[in-house]
Amino acid sequence: MDSVYIHVPFCKKKCNYCAFNSKIGEENEIENYVDALTKEILSKKENCKLTTIYFGGGTPTILKINQLEKIFNALNENFFIEENSEITIEANPGTVDEKFLFGLREIGFNRLSLGVQSFNDEILKILGRIHDSKIAVETVQTAKKFFDNISVDLMYSLPNQKISDLKNSVETAANLEVQHISIYGLEIEENTNFEKLLKAGNLNLPDNELSEKMYDFIMETLPKFGYRRYEISNFAKKSFESRHNLGYWTGRKYFGFGAGAHSYDGKIRTSNICNVQKYIEKVFAGENISEVEEVITKKNAMEEFCFLGLRMVEGIEIKNFEKLFGENIFEVYGKVIEKNISLGLLENSDGKIFLTSHGMKLGNMVFADFLF
Ligand code: SF4
Repeated sequence: MDSVYIHVPFCKKKCNYCAFNSKIGEENEIENYVDALTKEILSKKENCKLTTIYFGGGTPTILKINQLEKIFNALNENFFIEENSEITIEANPGTVDEKFLFGLREIGFNRLSLGVQSFNDEILKILGRIHDSKIAVETVQTAKKFFDNISVDLMYSLPNQKISDLKNSVETAANLEVQHISIYGLEIEENTNFEKLLKAGNLNLPDNELSEKMYDFIMETLPKFGYRRYEISNFAKKSFESRHNLGYWTGRKYFGFGAGAHSYDGKIRTSNICNVQKYIEKVFAGENISEVEEVITKKNAMEEFCFLGLRMVEGIEIKNFEKLFGENIFEVYGKVIEKNISLGLLENSDGKIFLTSHGMKLGNMVFADFLF
């Protein structure tokens, strides 16, 4: 069972914190991109079954319904899409209305992931988002008429954000009774407006103490609303965990289509050319658009099994490691595991190794230990 990721690198406006492969697209360029994307999909005749499909970006809902349908038809032609597949599309409030949402359902999308980030208007303005909180609430409410699997993305540790702002955002999302909430702490990325503002001393970020309080607030609050944390940044109502993302964390194979998309066949990871114009030109010229990024050796695969698996609250199963690699996990990583257990960051029980709640806060430190 495999997955497909489709990248749509266009947005209405570039957000101030965004380092994703996205740009403001002209209508003509978008049309050409859809044609190139369709051509790329059709060029990969794969005899495999898909259980998850994910349209991400950028803002995939910047495309017209007929353009999304065209891409979807190409997938249907070259892959076998399993019944009950999880088919997600990312959308931004302000880019979808009732008619559009109906159109998405008609095509076959059954999960909507909404990039809300905050329900505070001042913060949304600072982030450079195109929507305000009223539009975000209305979008979720309208989406609920068509989708019974909705995820909302939120952010914390934002400029000027107070605990009370975060409380309002988290509680608003939870009270809207969406099935899934992803919540990420802001990181200042290179070549973003936020990086420039920070360097100029014009970005009022919460200090470490406040950020930690925000983190603790999220961890305490979401479970009270019935959201179970299943991964470092992801919470879901029962049975609504993102199957697509679980695939990444458990080493499942995936195909990526579009500019900058990555693919993984279990042995080799490849990535497509990022530049949109070059991607379009090369696809039409029949030239190669992907390059090998990484050949996954047994060592790499063991490392990934550990640090991706540990992102999940369930952690990793000791017997699965042995089944996959023919080695005992303690013989390979005994010292690392022991060290992190003694620091109170990892726990070993019931045949599983997993991060403690303290370890969840310091996940990157633990993951780094598995790379040697
Ligand atoms: S909508 Fe998302 S992808 Fe587009 S600019 Fe904003 S953060 Fe980046």
